[in-house]
Amino acid sequence: MSEQQPPDEPAPPSRPKAQKQKPGLVLINTGDGKGKTTAALGTAIRHAGYGRKVLIIQFIKGTWHYGELESLARIPEITLVRAGAGFYKILDDKFPEEVHRQAAAEGLALARSSVASGEYSLVVLDEIIYAIDEKLLSLEQVLELLTQRRPEVSVILTGRHAPQALIDQADTVTEMKEIKHPFRDGILALKGIDY
Ligand code: ATP
Ligand code: MG
Repeated sequence: MSEQQPPDEPAPPSRPKAQKQKPGLVLINTGDGKGKTTAALGTAIRHAGYGRKVLIIQFIKGTWHYGELESLARIPEITLVRAGAGFYKILDDKFPEEVHRQAAAEGLALARSSVASGEYSLVVLDEIIYAIDEKLLSLEQVLELLTQRRPEVSVILTGRHAPQALIDQADTVTEMKEIKHPFRDGILALKGIDY
């Protein structure tokens, strides 16, 4: 099947006309507003629509249930691996720090081998930035992982507080900005919307 490009759209004013194409990109979804993970999942679905393989590694929240676990399981191109022992230091955290650290290290090792192998053309590292923030992984380890990336593999990293050194290595960086969130009014997370 030949792939059709979308029709040329007029370039927005003051932006240079795009002329080059990279085979793969590094994207970061950061910021304090909602939408970092769900935007990454949306891109995974878009990617799989072309028959391309996607690996999603979920750091930190490995024992929690999310609706996407069920729906992604129905998409054969997408593999989801949970590299976490549940939310770190929150609510039901019943694991010692070492267990979280080990889970993060295993996730990192898998991420490293998958960006280098090219088996998947999109690798989503969900909440990996949170893992850096919580010092379960070091910034250097994540930067080193990006140096292992084959150019044709795209990588999406999500989590609040993306460090500048990581932003410097990315092609696309989006900050989700909270304008409103019902959590502020004491409204609990809603099934199917928040998890
Ligand atoms: P989502 O998974 O909905 O795309 P996210 O990845 O941007 O959210 P995280 O920081 O990973 O956000 O937090 C995950 C959970 O926290 C989700 O249930 C989300 O709805 C909720 N959340 C996100 N932003 C906020 C916020 N500003 N205040 C309170 N809860 C939030
Ligand atoms: Mg998230």
